[in-house]
Amino acid sequence: TRPFDLASIRRDFPILERRLDADTALVYLDSGATSQRPRQVIDAEVAFLTHDNAAVKRGAHRMAEAATDAFEHARTTVSRFIGAPRTDEVVFTRGATEALNLVARSLGDGDDSTPDHLRVSPGDEILVTEMEHHANLVPWQELARRTGATLRWIPLADDYTLDLTDLSSLLTERTKVLALTHQSNVLGTVNPVRKLAEAARAVGALTVLDAAQSAPHMPFDVAELGVDFAALSGHKMLGPTGVGVLWGRYEHLAAMPPYLLGGSMIETVTMEYSTYTAPPARFEAGTPPVSQAVGLGAACDYLSALGMEQVAAHEHALTTRALEGLAGIDGVRVLGRSASPERSGAVAFVVDGVHTHDVGQVLDSLGIQVRVGHHCAWPLHRRYGITGSTRASFSVHTTEDEVDAFVDGVARTIDYFQGLSR
Ligand code: PMP
Repeated sequence: TRPFDLASIRRDFPILERRLDADTALVYLDSGATSQRPRQVIDAEVAFLTHDNAAVKRGAHRMAEAATDAFEHARTTVSRFIGAPRTDEVVFTRGATEALNLVARSLGDGDDSTPDHLRVSPGDEILVTEMEHHANLVPWQELARRTGATLRWIPLADDYTLDLTDLSSLLTERTKVLALTHQSNVLGTVNPVRKLAEAARAVGALTVLDAAQSAPHMPFDVAELGVDFAALSGHKMLGPTGVGVLWGRYEHLAAMPPYLLGGSMIETVTMEYSTYTAPPARFEAGTPPVSQAVGLGAACDYLSALGMEQVAAHEHALTTRALEGLAGIDGVRVLGRSASPERSGAVAFVVDGVHTHDVGQVLDSLGIQVRVGHHCAWPLHRRYGITGSTRASFSVHTTEDEVDAFVDGVARTIDYFQGLSR
């Protein structure tokens, strides 16, 4: 581990030196959409592409071996980072979206040889939550449609947490799958995953966790959380785009039908039929994103060296500061709870009478890069009677000065639009 020295951390991110124009420094507060990469990640990808690039798992030549070693080393690094009991439980995908689709697709594709708990059938129920990103909602809607199962959801409460009062009528013997996010990409709410996974297990349901927004920001351990599957996104955890992770309990992965079919995932192939190999290769058809996986391994090493406790503490302090700042501005409504350990660094808000795109535009003119819109969580916004919001999100390199610039920018936005309406 290394000390959490912000100045030295910022020097790791070459992009932070960029200026938007001669007068405007970059204030990047959109890590929730995609994070920036430290040079350790960029260098790892460049080194792989410069020295070791070849197709993995194929051929006996030395380059193929070097590439395969690098790819499998990345798998080991990721498995340690997420607390996976076994390295072969880590499947590389193209992103969190693909990881979630993989599970939802596979659970509907079983036949009589598939264990019942891994096969969604008519009459079964799939339980999601009202705060899900579309990536963890739409695939389950489609699974329900394909199989004749019923989709149900845990509603959101007025205080921006899950309303668990009716949990026992939602999570029942009929529930096959509970799919939920660890941390809301809009509200910052951190869900009580351990408790919910335990309740799911008690009724024989699988828990599928969307960890795209949690794994980059807090200590994360799949075994401790007690879930069955977890989806992670490379580009949200200081790693490359085009790579993500599905972690699943080995006994599940080994008994599930494959998702994509083709090369690298077969055992034998005849003209009539094929048999499939063991996980993780079973779910890695085709040529995987190799340099991206290597970059993701480097991102895990980078975060581990900083220490996830320290990362969480840093981002918690920034979140508290942002929430306190916004609380002092009339006309701002924050979506999400006040500062608490179950509340992490996505700070979304609406401004009375000002469209979220206008807020984003004024902030952009000040160099402050935030996300606007529905953030792929349309039902969540509908629940709170709005069509969109503006969201600032933080990372390891974010400073208090940047948070202050953001709060000041929001105040100036309101002044500007009030001036226009006077
Ligand atoms: N889930 C959540 C909560 C997200 O925020 C995102 C990305 N916006 C995803 C899933 C999808 O991740 P990816 O871009 O890796 O497909």
